[in-house]
Formats: sequence, C-alpha cells, structure tokens
Amino acid sequence: MERYKFYIGGDWIGPAEDGHFDAVNPFTGKVWAQLGEASPADVDAAVEAAARAQPGWAGTNGATRALILNRVADVIVDHAERMAVIESTDNGKVIRETKSQMLFAARLFRFYAGYADKLYGSTIPLDSSTIFDYTTREPYGVVALITAWNSPITLLCNKLPAALAAGNTVVVKPSEHASVSTLEFCKLLAEGGLPPGVVNVVTGGGETGAALVRHADIAKVSFTGSPAVGRKIAAMAGEMLKPVTLELGGKSPNIVFDDADPEAATIGALAGIFGATGQTCVAGSRLLVQRGLYDEITQRLADRARAIRLGDPLDPASEMGTVANRPQFDRIMQSIDSATQDGARLVAGGNRAKGDHLGEGLFVEPTIFADVRNDMAVAQNEIFGPVLAILPFETEEEAVDIANDIPFGLASGLWTRDISRAMRLVPQMKSGVVWVNTYRMVAAQAPFGGTKESGFGRERGEVGIMEFTVTKNVMIDYSSEARDPFAIKN
Ligand code: NAD
Repeated sequence: MERYKFYIGGDWIGPAEDGHFDAVNPFTGKVWAQLGEASPADVDAAVEAAARAQPGWAGTNGATRALILNRVADVIVDHAERMAVIESTDNGKVIRETKSQMLFAARLFRFYAGYADKLYGSTIPLDSSTIFDYTTREPYGVVALITAWNSPITLLCNKLPAALAAGNTVVVKPSEHASVSTLEFCKLLAEGGLPPGVVNVVTGGGETGAALVRHADIAKVSFTGSPAVGRKIAAMAGEMLKPVTLELGGKSPNIVFDDADPEAATIGALAGIFGATGQTCVAGSRLLVQRGLYDEITQRLADRARAIRLGDPLDPASEMGTVANRPQFDRIMQSIDSATQDGARLVAGGNRAKGDHLGEGLFVEPTIFADVRNDMAVAQNEIFGPVLAILPFETEEEAVDIANDIPFGLASGLWTRDISRAMRLVPQMKSGVVWVNTYRMVAAQAPFGGTKESGFGRERGEVGIMEFTVTKNVMIDYSSEARDPFAIKN
C-alpha cells in the first residue's frame, strides 16, 4: 500500500510531524492508501516553494507556458485510463465518467494554454493628449486551490490551468476524502515539464485548509466545496482582505413543461440526478413537472430508476457507483428518512442497495419522492446523493416562483419545445447556469458558477482566467510641462 508524501518544490516530502490518515475505497470498504496530515509547518514549506517559483514562472513568456500546458494535456490523455482507475477507486464514481473527466481535464489544459500568450491589456485614450495610458493583466502570485471529494481532478482542472496560464503558482489542498488522484496528477505535471514549485500539494483536513487560507503569502483563494465551509473561508479571507472565488453547493430546479418531449425530459432528469450518483453540485435534485405530464414523467422516471445498473465502479458496464464516503452515505440515508417522515411519496428506491455484486459497497438505491412540497427539507436542502424530489406545478409563473424559492442559485433546467417560453424564462431564472432541453452539459469555453449561496466568481471560459489576474493601470506623462503640484492632473 502506498503511503503518500506531499508534493513540494518538485519533491515528495513527508509530513513534518508523523501524522497520517487513510484513503478508504468506498466499494470494498478497505484502506487502499495513506496520506500525510499537513501541519502548519508543511503548509509553510509548500507556500514557500510556490513563492520561490513564482517570479520565474511569471517571467516565462506566454508561448513557453502554453507549450508546457499543452504538453501536460498530452500526458493527461496518455494516462487517462490509469488516472480514471485511481479516481474511481478513491471516490466510487463509475469508470465511464471518470475516464471522460480525465479527457475533459486535458481539454481544459489546452483551452487555457491558448490564453497564456493572449492576456492582452488595453490602451486607453485619456483627456490629455500627452499621457499614454495602458493596462496589463498580472498574476496574483501564490494562489490556494481547495477542492471537494466528488470530482477531484475536474474540480482541480477548473482552476489549475487558468491559474498557471496567467503566471500564478499554486498550493493545492484536495479533500481528505479523496486526495490520491490529485497527488498522482503531480507526476503528470512533472512529466509534462512543469518546473518544480509551480504546483505544490499538501493533504489534510479542514485545519490544513484553514492554515493555507490564512497564510500571509497566499494572495488569492479559489475554493470548491460546501456553503458552510465557503462561509468560513470568505470570513477568513475577508479578515485579511484576500480575494476569493467560491464554487459552492446547489439544489437545482429542472423544470418540465407540458409541451416538452417527454422522453428527452426523462433522460435529462435522470442524467441530472443519477449521473455521478447525484454527488454533483449541479444535481437537478428538484424536478418541477407541469400537471399535464406529471403522472407520465413520474412513472417513466420510477421505471428507469429501478433499471439503473449499480455495480463495481471499475466495471465499464456499471451506471451508478457507490457514495464516495461513509459520512456522506449516512447523511443521504438520514435525508431519505426525513423525507418519508415529512410525507413525501416514495416512488422508487429509498434503501441501501445490496446484492452479491455490491459487496460492502456504500450503494444507495436511485431514490425518487413525488408530491413534494417546496417547504419540505427534501426540496430545500442539498442532499448530494441519488435522491430526486418531484414537485407538481400548474402555471409558468408558479414554476418560476418555486424554482427561485431556494437559498441556492447554481443551475437550472428548462424543458420546452416553445422557444418563446424558453427565451422569456431564461432571464427569470436566478442561477448562474441555465440549460434548455439539456442538463449537466459542460464545456471548457462556457463560464460556470453560482449566485446566492452557491457562491461567486466563475470558472471555465475566458472569465475563468480573468479570476486569476489583476489589472494594472499605467500612466506615462511624456509632455515636458511642469505642472501645478496642488491641482489634480488629468
Ligand atoms: P467541504 O466544504 O466539506 O470541503 C471542501 C474542502 O474544504 C475540503 O478540501 C476540506 O478539507 C476543506 N475545508 C474544510 N474546512 C475548511 C476550513 N475551515 N478552511 C479551509 N478549508 C476547509 O465540501 P465537500 O463535502 O468536500 O464537498 C461537497 C460540497 O461541495 C457540496 O456542497 C457540493 O455542492 C460542493 N461542490 C461544488 C461545486 C461547484 O463547482 N460549485 C463542485 C463540486 C462540489
């Protein structure tokens, strides 16, 4: 069994104090690797290494940074299969999804490689004809990237290539529930030619993350995780006046109108909640269905949910894997119990899934509650598991009211064949992402992020790299005039 060290300054360095914790395979229930618990001294060492490497990396021209990021993308593709096995072993997500996530990670590296030599500034015409004004976009310096356990490499690569293309160096802290793939990823970065110290990884829990956020040499924090921890990070960063990007949770409404294609909407609803075992921030966990299609869609979904193939995450035939870790499994089962107690009508699932081929795995049956009211916990709280709440509605106005009556604002889906209705509703959805006649679709070019308690700032797309740059304005007076020192110059 491998006992991982930290990746600092291009070397594998052990914890300063002798603390380790276990990586548990959620399918077998067995410990399959060990990780170091980083102390503040380890965090210091990682930040120092990043700080040492930063001027050199920022001084490398954009074309060279692009070349290296593209080489890393090639290496990721070469190792996609192996990395997918590691990810699925660590967090129970099915191999068909983790494999496509590795290819998407490579796509993100190529997309941001393209920006490395195109971080243009502007020239700005001022009122005075003898002052030349221009802007540049500079890196922050050393940036902290903190991620969640559900998709460690995707969440990392939503941030990392953008941060690097802009000339930052980074210290990464993955979730204590799934850290192995992030450490293994460092080997790919080195093989691609990334200089030592540009990316550093420490592992550990919340205390390690907090030590990183509070470190005086961390210039910016980009965080993906829960609203509860996001709040703490925003408070710590606020205290030190550090900028933060927060990618937090969701409870996204997926709305099916009477004029939708029922088969397409059913598939979209399934993908929205049972893809990734529902452990995705954009899970379409609130399905709002108009009365005319309500019974039909509920029936179709219940039938399809029962037919989903649960199995070994490493088996390409498996459609749904395990829940990623024990605490999350317990939270999901509690949410199912409380939905039943609140009077929601269980139409599929509701139990731990068992069977010879499922072994000790943390499997939850694809679960659907119908006739849910919007004030029930199952309609309001993020469960982060394969649990769908179906709510009926009558009118378009009612659908919008229910959809937006939620503390979150990450994503929403609209299913309708009426383009006028779709165009009318898009501006009314209080979410950072709106999908029309599709769900859970991502692209390197398309910005992603939330509103309300789903956070702020954006990842992916052009705006994703701007989050890792600071605008500098430069004014050059090339007149030879002696000006009045007590008047504002313009
Ligand atoms: P979490 O907030 O418990 O942990 C996330 C990370 O924060 C972990 O690395 C953890 O160790 C670290 N952390 C914990 N306490 C900290 C502290 N005080 N200071 C600094 N770091 C600290 O979240 P989770 O359970 O790992 O992930 C699930 C949540 O993540 C869900 O709410 C989900 O919706 C959200 N998520 C959001 C997105 C998105 O892009 N919006 C994507 C994936 C997951």
